Amino acid sequence: MKTLLAYLKGYKKESILAPLFKMLEASFELFVPLVMAAIIDVGIANQDKPYIVKMCFVLIALGIIGLVCSITAQYFAAKAATGVGTGIRHGLFEHIQKFTFTEMDQLGTSTLITRMTSDINQIQSGVNLVLRLFLRSPFIVFGAMIMAFTVDVKAALVFVVTIPLLSLIVFGIMLVTMPMYKKVQADLDQVLLTTRENLTGARVIRAFNKEEDETKRFENANQILTDAQKYVGRISGMMNPLTYIIVNGAVVVLLYTGAIRVDQGIITTGAVVALVNYMNQILLALVVVANLVVIFTKSAACAARVNEVLDTKPSVTETDSTEENGDSSAPAVKFDKVYFSYHDNSEYALEDISFTAEKGQTIGIIGGTGSGKSTLINLIPRFYDASDGLVEVYGTDVRKYSLNRLRKKIAVVPQKAVLFSGTIRENMKWGGDNITDEQIWRALKISQAYEFVEKLENGLDYKILQGGKNLSGGQKQRLTIARAIAADPEILILDDSASALDFATDAKLRTAIKENCSDMTVFIISQRANTVKNADQIIVLDDGKTVGIGTHKELLQSCTDYCQICLTQFSAEELEKEINGDE
Ligand code: ADP
Ligand code: MG
Repeated sequence: MKTLLAYLKGYKKESILAPLFKMLEASFELFVPLVMAAIIDVGIANQDKPYIVKMCFVLIALGIIGLVCSITAQYFAAKAATGVGTGIRHGLFEHIQKFTFTEMDQLGTSTLITRMTSDINQIQSGVNLVLRLFLRSPFIVFGAMIMAFTVDVKAALVFVVTIPLLSLIVFGIMLVTMPMYKKVQADLDQVLLTTRENLTGARVIRAFNKEEDETKRFENANQILTDAQKYVGRISGMMNPLTYIIVNGAVVVLLYTGAIRVDQGIITTGAVVALVNYMNQILLALVVVANLVVIFTKSAACAARVNEVLDTKPSVTETDSTEENGDSSAPAVKFDKVYFSYHDNSEYALEDISFTAEKGQTIGIIGGTGSGKSTLINLIPRFYDASDGLVEVYGTDVRKYSLNRLRKKIAVVPQKAVLFSGTIRENMKWGGDNITDEQIWRALKISQAYEFVEKLENGLDYKILQGGKNLSGGQKQRLTIARAIAADPEILILDDSASALDFATDAKLRTAIKENCSDMTVFIISQRANTVKNADQIIVLDDGKTVGIGTHKELLQSCTDYCQICLTQFSAEELEKEINGDE
C-alpha cells in the first residue's frame, strides 16, 4: 500500500483540493434545510411574497455555488486519479521488464495482464471516488447532526441514536465483504486465464474438436465467479434496505414527535421540515458511503494484487561492476559443476554439468525432450541463474557482467519462434538500430531466408502480423535466426531452431553459418544427430546429466546413449562406416 500511495505524492495539490471543494459543496448543501425552514416559518407564515422570492434566489445561488464546487472537485480528483493510474501502470510495466523467466513462470502472463489493466483501472476509480467522497460523506453525516442540534436539541437526540446504528451496519458489512472481494478478483483471474488459453490455442482446439469441453471448462470457471459475486452481492445488498429501514424509522419518530410538539407550540413547522431534510441528507450520504465501500474494498483488493507484483523481486540482479567485459582470449563459455533447479528444493533440472566451449567452436547439444537442453543454454545469458556451480563467459562469471553487456554478446534463437508485428526490417533491427539493410540481407542469406523474403512484394517492408501469423513455421524460424545473426553476436545459440526446416535447408544453414561466422561460438541444440554431427564438441544430455562429451566419432565409440539416438536416425550401414572411420 505504501508503495502505491507514493504515486499520489506527485498530485499533492489535487489530492488536497478535491476533497476540500467537495466539503465546500457539502457545507452549502447543509444550509439548504435552514433556508427551507425560513421560507416556511417566516415567508409562508407571514404571507410575505417578496421574502419567499428572495429566499428562493438564495436557494438557487446555493445550488449554483455547490455545482461549481462539485465540478472543480471532480476535475482535481479525475486529474489525480488518472495521474496515479498512469504512474502505477508505468511503474508496473517497468518492474515487469526486470523480471527473469523465474518470475514470469511464477506469476503467469494472464495474471500480469489483468494486473496491468483491470486492476489498475479499479485502483484509478477507487482513488477518484475516495478523493471526492471519503471526507464528504462523514462531513455531511456529522454536519447534519450538528445542524439538527442548532434547530432543536431534543429532536437531535434521534440523530445521536440513528447515526451509530447506521455506522455499525455500514462498517460491519464492509469488514465482512472485504476478503470476499479478494476472492472474487482471484476467480476473475481464473476466468481470464481460461479465456486466454482458449484463444491462444484456438487452432488446436478446433483440430481436436474440443470446443464443447472448452466451453464446459469456461462455464465452470465462470460459474465459480458468478457464485462468488452473487454471495458477496447478497451481503452488500443488505446494506441499502437496512439503512433505509433505520433512517425511515427515524423520520417517522421525528414527524410523530415533531407534530405533537408543533401542536404544543414548542417548535415550528419549518424546524420539523428541516430535521426531516437533514435525516434524508444523512441517508443519501450513507447510500453513497455504501457504494464507496464496495468500490473501495474492490480497489484495495486490486491494490494488494498490484503490490504483490511490485514486491516480487527479480531473482537475477545486476552487479555494479558494469565495466566488466571479459577476456577475449579465454574460452567463450565454460560451465563448472553447474547445478540448476527451477524451484527451491525441487529436483535438479541440471546436475553437475561441466564443459568448455572455445572461441569459434561449434557446440552441439543433443538429448531427448525434457533432458535439459533449453535449461542449459538459458543459463548462459542469465535467463536463470545457476543454483550451484559457475557459468563463465570469456573467463568471467556471468553474474559479474551488466545484463546489457552480457546479452549484447549473446544472441539466442529460442525454440519457439517469436516475431513482433511490424515490418521484416523492424524485426531484424532488434539487435541494434544501426543495422544496415546490407547487413540484414547478409543475415537473411545465411539463415536461408533470402529467397522467400526476396520474393515478397515489398521485401524488407513486408508487414509481419501479430505473432507472425502470416508466415509459415519454417519461415518464422529462419527469420528469427536471421534476426540473431544480424545482431552480430559473439555467441550464437540456436535452440532447436531448425526443427521446422527440411534436412537440405538445415544443412545449408549450418554450412552458411560455418563459412560466414567463423569467429562466432555457436551452440546448436537439436534432437537430430545429423544436425550436430559436424560440431567440434557434442554434449549428450539425459535427464539433466551429461552422459557424454566429444566429437561425433568419439561418442559413437564411447557413448551408448548417443549411439542409440543415432541408431534411430541413421541406417546401420551408415553408422558402421562412420565408426570405422571411412566416410
Ligand atoms: P529440453 O529443452 O531438453 O526439451 P528443458 O530444458 O526445456 O528440456 O526442460 C528440462 C526439464 O525442466 C523438464 O523436466 C521440464 O519439465 C523442466 N522445466 C522446463 N522449463 C521449466 C519451467 N519454466 N519451470 C519448471 N520446470 C521446467
Ligand atoms: Mg528445449
